[in-house]
Amino acid sequence: MNGNHYTGDELLGRLYGAGREDAHLDHCPECRARWEALQSRRAQLLAAGPALDPAFLARQRAAILERAARSRPLATRLAPAYAAALLVAMAAVLTRPVEPPAPALSARGDSQVFAEAYALLQRDVPRAGLPIQALFEEQQ
Ligand SMILES: [Zn+2]
Repeated sequence: MNGNHYTGDELLGRLYGAGREDAHLDHCPECRARWEALQSRRAQLLAAGPALDPAFLARQRAAILERAARSRPLATRLAPAYAAALLVAMAAVLTRPVEPPAPALSARGDSQVFAEAYALLQRDVPRAGLPIQALFEEQQ
């Protein structure tokens, strides 16, 4: 793009219709020679076609068919069954009935708990002041 010679990438891009289009090839014999060599090589490759051995292709096809026909090992075939069994076991564990927790009040009796709660509510000293109050009660 700077008016100098074409780079290899620019010549390849021009070969496929994506390169720069200017009159440099008309004035530069070096770039024109590379361009014509590239065009002639492309024409040779297109005329010859791909060089593939039919025997290689036949062996490859036979190998693919053999591999597709081969049975998988038993462990591989049973993998979905293992996964389903694991899923059922997890569902059974996670959805089993759970006993409700025992009420904590039954051990001491409801009347004693309510009496303690009312006693706490009757105090006019905040809970943070209880240690200080305890100090004074011991001195009395
Ligand atoms: Zn040039």
